[in-house]
Formats: sequence, structure tokens, C-alpha cells
Amino acid sequence: MPVPINRLFTYELPLTLRHRVTAGCRVLVPLGSRKLTGVVIRTHTGPAAPGVREVSGLRDEEPVLDHELLELAEWIAEYYCAPIGEVLKGMLPLSGETRRSTHYELTDAGRQVARQLVLNSESDPASRLLAMLEERPRPLTYLSSKIEKPRQVLAPLIKRGWVEVEDREEERDPLRAAAERLQAEFVSRAETDEKLKKHERELLAFLELHPGQHNVAALAEQVKRASEAARSLARRGLVRLEIGSLKLSSGFFREAPILNQHQELAFREILTALETGGFQTFLLEGVTGSGKTEVYLRAIEAALALGKNTLLLVPEIALTPAMAGQFFHRFGKQVAVLHSAFGDAERAGQWRRIRSGEARVVAGTRSAVFAPVQNLGLVIIDEEHDTSYKQEETPRYHGRDVALIRAQKAGAIAVLGSATPGIETRFNAGRDKYRMLRLPERVAQRPLPKVKIVDMRVEFLETKRQATFSRLLLEEMKQRLAQREQVMLLLNRRGFSSFMVCRACGERLLCENCSVVLTHHRRDRRMLCHYCGFAAKIPTTCPACGSDHIQFLGAGSERVENELHEYLPTARIARLDRDSATGKGAFETILDSFRQGDIDILVGTQMIAKGHDIPNVTLVGVVLADIGLGMPDFRAAERSFQLLTQAAGRAGRGDTPGLVIIQTLNPDHYAIRFAAEQDYESFYAKELEFRKWLRYPPFAAFANVLVRAEKQEEALRMATELGYLLNPPPEGIRVMGPAEAPVLRVRSEFRYQILLKAARRATLREVLRTLRSFAEKEKWKATALVIDVDPVNLM
Ligand code: ADP
Ligand code: ZN
Ligand code: ZN
Repeated sequence: MPVPINRLFTYELPLTLRHRVTAGCRVLVPLGSRKLTGVVIRTHTGPAAPGVREVSGLRDEEPVLDHELLELAEWIAEYYCAPIGEVLKGMLPLSGETRRSTHYELTDAGRQVARQLVLNSESDPASRLLAMLEERPRPLTYLSSKIEKPRQVLAPLIKRGWVEVEDREEERDPLRAAAERLQAEFVSRAETDEKLKKHERELLAFLELHPGQHNVAALAEQVKRASEAARSLARRGLVRLEIGSLKLSSGFFREAPILNQHQELAFREILTALETGGFQTFLLEGVTGSGKTEVYLRAIEAALALGKNTLLLVPEIALTPAMAGQFFHRFGKQVAVLHSAFGDAERAGQWRRIRSGEARVVAGTRSAVFAPVQNLGLVIIDEEHDTSYKQEETPRYHGRDVALIRAQKAGAIAVLGSATPGIETRFNAGRDKYRMLRLPERVAQRPLPKVKIVDMRVEFLETKRQATFSRLLLEEMKQRLAQREQVMLLLNRRGFSSFMVCRACGERLLCENCSVVLTHHRRDRRMLCHYCGFAAKIPTTCPACGSDHIQFLGAGSERVENELHEYLPTARIARLDRDSATGKGAFETILDSFRQGDIDILVGTQMIAKGHDIPNVTLVGVVLADIGLGMPDFRAAERSFQLLTQAAGRAGRGDTPGLVIIQTLNPDHYAIRFAAEQDYESFYAKELEFRKWLRYPPFAAFANVLVRAEKQEEALRMATELGYLLNPPPEGIRVMGPAEAPVLRVRSEFRYQILLKAARRATLREVLRTLRSFAEKEKWKATALVIDVDPVNLM
């Protein structure tokens, strides 16, 4: 059941359903006073326990989850200490194609009461409601149109057991999908007696003249109000509307190059493993621009030839239409793409193509790991170090790790690829758990970019100016512009922002819901919270003391962009971060025009560092490398190293060699030094030493236990209770905390955390289970306790 309780429920199957329901089917069952959709885990023929309720309906004629995926769900529930029902819910994108609505219906007792009612025109709302329900079950929307505040009227009736609530799911109308996703095709001319509006006639004529599928959003350029017209024509059956696949990026499809010697070697090893069969994991460690993608593509081809299907996971940001385009180009209709930005209906459509075996190469972001790929032979995890593989809500699984388990269960080959493998991954490769494949050079003998470090402390002493850009960086940017080459500027993290302080009293403007400062966004003319989205007006006087000596500190990405315009007035500059790239396709539009050369300088957060392959970028500047290093997180150094190395890797991917300029206040920090040298192995050795010394992963199993509540005393009390439970610490466990979480308050909830380290994973799991059952026994709110196993983010 999709409830945050970690247990299974037993129901009796009515005779009519007995032979139709199998494990993996969804059924509608009563739970308390509601009806909910659950997934059948097992069926058995033993005698029913007393009080067992009956299944009310079957949702699927065939199972939505096969045996393999059910097993995977159980593994996730166990490993991440997550309620099985919530795990299953997260695995089923099919729930997305339906619309949820709440229906109310009379119970037998309620029907009796309703029958005895004598209605007159002034009846009280409760009686009128009962009368309406006596006719038939009604959705809330209907009741709202007839009675004021129907929920308030319903509550006592439900309590008395007269009315039952049913959460219904209904098929969502495909006509409601966004125009960008819809493909329209001519079906037939209008019957003469049908009155079409002008724009409908125009569209129909256009489609008849141009056979084949047309994107509805694109049709708007041909015909006014095309989207509206297409929908009404589809309703009349004159036009067929389908949820289409994503828009592919225009332009370059590269033909398959001949593999170089290192690529060939790596490919051969994967091929042999595919031919032999059986589970094995490879780590493909290749420097930036070494052509890892080409190795994947060949491996996929080989798998297809052997009759095996592929699951390819990519980070959130990397699955651009440009990349998907490459896959379609190579594998045509055998490709399915799953992306969290897709609409529900589209995802469900792709899901079905995968299940039916029509799609044999599945590329997708994190949740694609649950795609029902049949006959799985190859699992590829690109940029395996990327943090977007970690799900930050229940179930808090790591897509990479789940993918490996999935490969293992399927007896498939797993390939992890990265220029900067996660420390744990590299550690496993070092212990021969994974087999290492190396691409030590860039393709076509291109050199790795040259990296220069600018010490911003020295810069300040020499120029006596607190500048965003060093003289060197400005000089180099000017030169690239003159040579018509392109530049990327990395603003490390979104925390690169400006906030308000009062110089009179020191007040800072904080979010109302979170203990963080609000960030100044000039374009929106707002102060925004980056945690919860809270927005406030930009103050002109201090809200605490009324002084007008307020000041905005820090260099926001907007400010950096504006400063650039001052220094380089002729440059075409664009900004890419979560604020500028909102809305479907905005991100891709900016990136596309950069790729086409319509933008000279692209300024952005870590979004720009990932995977992009744009040959004309010859200079990458890191405005301030240190920002990530100060985070209270043992992975801060690893993150910074990866980000800097990946950012550097964007430079010099074409024929002209690249230059990277890293501005920093900590030029001696090992993460910055080794990133500048693009020396992964030295960084790894140093970082591993540090992890071993402090007993951090991979030398310990690690979990973050967070408690949260709206009232601070309550959060503190719960944290203290868990603290008592862990004192003295169970054998083999180290307990840190309870302590305030680094950000104490988020979305109006106070948070305290306890970090647990264990030498053995089994011990850790046992302790976590104890904590969870304590919370259940004490009847804590379901959301009060958050267990995060192998946490990626300790903030
Ligand atoms: P990585 O993912 O390792 O950073 P990519 O896979 O993006 O590198 O490859 C970089 C570029 O090199 C791409 O444009 C790709 O088409 C090209 N490429 C890959 N293999 C070869 C090869 N053997 N010869 C020439 N170009 C290649
Ligand atoms: Zn003040
Ligand atoms: Zn907030």
C-alpha cells in the first residue's frame, strides 16, 4: 500500500478475481475508511485470518511489475530502510497517467439512514448530501458545486460510518497533454454538415496537404490557434493526436568514428563479457573528451546483435535532446527515452513500448532504473559520480547502486563511466570488485586543456581592488572574443548569490520558513529562498531597525553577468542556471544557441560543467573555486574536485587546444591543486587516506537520521529520545549527534540529525530498523523520521 508504514497487508480475493490476480498486479483495496491502490506481492491459498477484508477491484489484467522488479523493490526497502509501499509507488510511472479524484459513497448503514430521510426544500446540508450520495457515489468536485464546504459536512458522516471515501484513479485524457508533446496527423475530411471554425478548417487543410505527423506546438507557426484547433478536430475524429517523442536537437549527427586503440581495448573487454554472459561490473575511467560515449554506443550495438537489451542511465542534466538525438540516429525506433521532465502520459507511453519489447535500448535519468526492460544484458551508468542519481525523497535510493543490483539480478554486464569516479566506485575497482578499463587520452591526440591557477589574494594585493575577474581572466576572454572562440564561466554553486545585510544593526533578511538568507534576484525583483521558493519584496529599509543603510553582499550570478557586460560590451552573453532555465526546453534553447555559436560567453552554475561537448569552447573560467569547499560535508573535497575537473574538461574539445583559469583563495588545497593538474589518481590517493583516517565511506557504512517537526521542542524531544536509544551505542556503531542539522529549519520544520557509522552494513541496518520501529511504536508522524542510507547530501 502507498503508505509510510513498513508492512504488508493481507486481503481476501473474491471468487471472480481469484484466477486473474498475480504478483505484480495493482488492486483496489479498502484501508481504514478509504480505498487505495496497492501492489500484490504474493498470493496464497491458506485460510484467511479473521477480520481480513476483501479486494474491491483489479487494476491490471497483467502485472505491471515483473518478478525481477518486485525483487528489486524488496531489496531497496531492505537496504534503504524504506517502507515497501512507498518504494513500489516510486517505481510505477503508470500511476502518472491517471488522474486522482476522491469519491464519496454510502455504506450500508448510510444507505439505511438516507432512506429514512424526509427531504424538504430547507433540509440541512448533511441530509441533502446523503440524498445525493444515495443516487450514486459522487466526486468531491460535484459535491462542491452543490453544497458549501462539503468536506466539513462529510467529516461527521464519515466518522459515523455512513460515508466511505474512495480514491479513484481515472485515465487521463491524452488531449490534455502540452502542445509540445503532441503529434497531429490527418485522418479524414469533415462531413459536410459539420461546422468548423476558421482556424479548424485551416489546420485540417494544412494537415491534409502535408501527410504525416506534425508537432502541434510547431504547427502554431503555420496556423493560428493550432493547438486548440487540433484538440477539437481530434475530438471529432478528423485528426489523430498522439503523445509524441521528444523534440530532437537539430544538427550534427556524427557518423560512428573508428575506435582508437584505448577505446578498442575497452570495447573488446566488454564484448567478451557480453558474449560470455553473467554479471560483471566494469569501471570505464576515461579523461574528459576521451570518447566514452562511443564505447557505450558500440557496446549497445554488440548487445543488440546478441539479442540483449540495454538500460543506459545518464545524469538529469545530460539527457538533452542533443544526446537523445545521437541515440535515435544510431538505434532508431528501438530507443525509448525516459526523463523526469516528461509529462506523465508520455512516460507511460514509453513504459509500454519498453514492456512490449519494442524498445530495446532505454536511455533515461534516475528513475529509468525501474523501466521494465526485458531480457536485460547491459546496464550503463554514465557519469556515475553524478549526485543527481541520488533521490532526495523517500525512497532515498541511489540510482547507480540500484542499477548495479538490477544488473546483478539479471545477470547483465554493468559499465560505470566517469572521468572522476566516485571514491567508493574507484575503491571497489581497486579491490577487483569491478574491472577497470582506462581511456587515458583524449580522442584524436587532442591535449587535455592547460590549467592556470590565479590566487585571488595576490590579485587583491596587487590591484587593491575586490574584483570578480582577475586581470588574466579578462585578458584571455578578450582574446577569445577576438578569435571568435567561445568561453564558459563557472559560478561554483548556486550559493553564489547576493543577500541583504543592514549596516546599522547587522540584520540579514531570512526566509520565513527556513533558516537561510534570502537571495536577491534582480530580474524577478524579488528576494527568493533557494530551499522552499519563498519570495519577498526587495526591502528599501531594514525590516528590523528601519535604517536605510542596507547593502547587498556577495556576487550573484546576475551581477557577474552584468559586470561582464561592462568589461566586454560587445560580447553576447547568456546565463544558464536554475533561475534562467525554468520552463520546458529553456535549458536546451540556451545550450543550443551556444552550440550554434550565437552566444560568446555562457555563464552558469554546475549545470554547465556536465558532459557538454562543444568544440569551439577554448576557455573555461572558474570564478571562485573555493565555494564548495566550505560545506560541512565530508564529501566537500570530492565534490569540488569533480566539479572543477569536469568544468575544465569542457575546454579544448575541438581542434584548438583549451585553457582553463581557476580563480581561488586556497590555491594549495589538494582538491584544487589536483583538479588543476587533472590528476584523478593523486586526488583519489589523498582523499582515500583522509577517509580511512576518519572512518568515512568506503571504510564504513554511513547513514543520516533526521528528525523534523514544526515545533522546535518537539523535534528536539524526538532527537533526544533517539539519542537515548543509541546510548550506549550498539556494538560496532559510532554515533555522532543528535545535533542541529546544518540548516536548522527548512520549509517551516526544525531538523536535528544523528550520523551513524558502522563497520558492518548489517549492524547499521539493524540499528536503523530499531529506530524506525521505535518511531512507529511512539506514533510519530510519518514524515518526522527520515532515514538516509549512504547519504550524498548532509545539508
Ligand atoms: P567523454 O564523454 O569521454 O568526455 P565524448 O564521448 O563526449 O567524450 O567524446 C568526445 C568527442 O570525441 C565526441 O565529439 C565524439 O564524437 C568524438 N569521438 C569519440 N571517439 C572518437 C574517435 N575514435 N575518433 C574521433 N573522434 C571521436
Ligand atoms: Zn537594521
Ligand atoms: Zn525557505
